[in-house]
Amino acid sequence: MKTKSRQKNEKMHGHLLPCCDMCKKTPASGLRGGIKIEKIFLCKECEWKIVAAESNRPDYDNLLKKVKKLWRINLMRQARRRNFIGKD
Ligand SMILES: [Zn+2]
Repeated sequence: MKTKSRQKNEKMHGHLLPCCDMCKKTPASGLRGGIKIEKIFLCKECEWKIVAAESNRPDYDNLLKKVKKLWRINLMRQARRRNFIGKD
């Protein structure tokens, strides 16, 4: 049963283990396996992909698109939080 194993998985990992917003993987070492930038979390692997990116590489455009998408997620999460807290 797929749903059952997924529930078990969530229970095992709880909410403490972050999920990388770029590759959707959970680093084995949890929060220490990556960095949190405002509202987004990046695993070390993806962090290094961005850090080591060179503009003359063929996959650079693709990476840039992913980073832009991540930043939109970050802004959306911030906006959602603002709506939730402050209603003036
Ligand atoms: Zn990642």
